[in-house]
Amino acid sequence: MIRITEILDKARTYLNNKDIALIQKAYVFSAAAHAGQTRLSGDPYLSHPLEVAKILTDFYLDGPTIASGLLHDTVEDTDVTLETIREQFGEDVFKIVRGVTKISKINFSSKEEAQAENTRKMILAMAEDIRVILVKLADRLHNMRTLEHQKEIKQKLIAQETLDIYAPLANRLGLYKIKVELEDLSLRYTKPDIYFQIEQGIKKFQTTGDQYIKKVCSILEDLLKKNKIQGRVNGRIKHIYSIYHKMETQGLTLDQVYDIVAFRVIVQNIKDCYAVLGLVHALWKPIYGRFKDYISMPKANMYQSLHTTVIGPDAERIEIQIRTEEMHKIAEYGVAAHWTYKEGDTKLNEKEIKKFSWLRQILDWQKELKDPREFINSLRCDLFQDEVYVFTPKGDVKELPEGATPIDFAYLIHSQIGDHCAGAKVNGKLVSLNTPLKNGDVVEIITDPSKHPSRDWLKFVKTAKARTRIKYWIRHEERESSIALGKEILEKEGRRLGLDFQNLLKEGKFLEVAQEFSLQSEDDLFSAVGYTKIKPRQVLNKFLPKADVITEKKGKKEQVVENKSVPGVKIKGVEDILVRFAKCCNPVPGDPIVGYISRGKGVTVHTIDCPNVKDLEPERRLSVVWDDETDQSFPVKIKINCENRPGMLAKITKVLGEQNINIESGTFYSNVDGNSELNFTILVQSTSHLYKAIRQVQNIKGIHKVVRLKGGFRLP
Ligand code: MN
Repeated sequence: MIRITEILDKARTYLNNKDIALIQKAYVFSAAAHAGQTRLSGDPYLSHPLEVAKILTDFYLDGPTIASGLLHDTVEDTDVTLETIREQFGEDVFKIVRGVTKISKINFSSKEEAQAENTRKMILAMAEDIRVILVKLADRLHNMRTLEHQKEIKQKLIAQETLDIYAPLANRLGLYKIKVELEDLSLRYTKPDIYFQIEQGIKKFQTTGDQYIKKVCSILEDLLKKNKIQGRVNGRIKHIYSIYHKMETQGLTLDQVYDIVAFRVIVQNIKDCYAVLGLVHALWKPIYGRFKDYISMPKANMYQSLHTTVIGPDAERIEIQIRTEEMHKIAEYGVAAHWTYKEGDTKLNEKEIKKFSWLRQILDWQKELKDPREFINSLRCDLFQDEVYVFTPKGDVKELPEGATPIDFAYLIHSQIGDHCAGAKVNGKLVSLNTPLKNGDVVEIITDPSKHPSRDWLKFVKTAKARTRIKYWIRHEERESSIALGKEILEKEGRRLGLDFQNLLKEGKFLEVAQEFSLQSEDDLFSAVGYTKIKPRQVLNKFLPKADVITEKKGKKEQVVENKSVPGVKIKGVEDILVRFAKCCNPVPGDPIVGYISRGKGVTVHTIDCPNVKDLEPERRLSVVWDDETDQSFPVKIKINCENRPGMLAKITKVLGEQNINIESGTFYSNVDGNSELNFTILVQSTSHLYKAIRQVQNIKGIHKVVRLKGGFRLP
């Protein structure tokens, strides 16, 4: 097992005493917390955090990062709390350990490419500090190095997840060494046959290969010397995964992969890079299309180099990279990242260019900052401002636009979940459905089969899917209510004509009529009647003997008169349907109203805010409007609080009389405190009529308060 002294020795070469003390303290704390625990390998558990810390020192990371490496599993695997970490080690370590613990809870069950991409982005977005990801990558690297102790099924799962998520993440952060090792280790477990085949091939090549590498290196070294360019040359066999990748993408067998060796020339400055390139091209014929200038066009992860492939001394292909020392350092260790970069995609869109320039800016600052710790601190992941990544309760990651709400989330999961969304919990707490979601939120949707989309949702949903589904549902609901209304109208009108609606329905008579109107179904016919596209008599006449049709025409006039007595609301132009006003809320012209189709009773009109309406089936609701021409009076309840003194009641009734208001009934209470409460049911023509009267009553001396009573009780 690696010892803490080894880590401290390395850390002392670049960290101050304060940081060293922090690391020592973290070591003691972690050793105590993990005491008695062992890994699958049989090693003491502490070996893992120690190895993680070691990897972090290899990358010259700061004190809090290394301390966090030592502590990263204490909250997850022991009974240490995050609060204790904060108290003992301060804000930085607390945030890093919290971030790593959070990421370890993500479930990577889905292997879809898009999911992996989301997860990578999400990890970046969630980690408010880049050091969270560095610790997580070191953690994964050590777990991959010790993967042999896991069961085979777990090996494959973890290795695939590493290939999907962590290796690309390391690549984006420019952590080349970690990326390469993660890729090779993953391949060993996901495709062991290929891995060992390539490994064998490399071994075979090595005997002749070493000679070959020496030969090419010395030619290049001579070239530098002759031209008085300071620099060094090296050659190396590429890592197994990159050879595998080449075989896969180019459809080659191992024998066909010539350039498994890559050469590197490292010089002092950029001018020399191009000079060396010219010299190499003069010496060996370059292969057309293989030259890439990553110096003037750096890769998104800040990688810079000149790449070329030439035909070498033995007529073989040679791949050569030319770079400065500084570029080399970034290529090997660079904690640089460009989140939007996609491999194989060189074109950046405008959004990406914006993010790219942001990163360049940070790198420019870095030159001024000198202190690598400040650089790391400045690389905070406040990116993805236009996207949020949230979790399902099972830990799956979902991507949503910024400002998206639980409704958007519900529809993203499934249309049915959206359609029946009744409530939402975010991080375990009930929230309102228009709450904007934040990165890392765990969102749980509560469904209720009796709940349906509301038009109000359209005011705050952000995704096209939610919007489309809600609109679809509203349209569908309107159709449902028009069908119900059509049936209702036909049943009522039919009864008046002595027709049995239910019987006709059973006998399929309406389908016949529907076809006569070139409609597909009975429902289409009912809906057309509901929307008054077809008059009920046009349908019902088909079932009447000819004579009756004529007789009914006479009767129609009486019906019109009768209709006059029906109080004034219009239902989408329908005239011949019974309308009643709900006793619970007493709507008055001027109040926003809604109709409700009750079987065999026609339409009941409620005020929109009536508590009883909320419980009614949405598909039986109906838009209704007041008929402006009505001169009908409507009952309304008012409550008056006033001083209890003689003549009060007389004054009130006088004022109401002056306003042309009849009192239908009234009750009076005297309270012990010398005040009275009077409840009246009065008849008014409209809300403006009512409120004018209320104002007049309020002006009477001794009146405390006058209010309209609305929807004050529920129907039994
Ligand atoms: Mn760990």
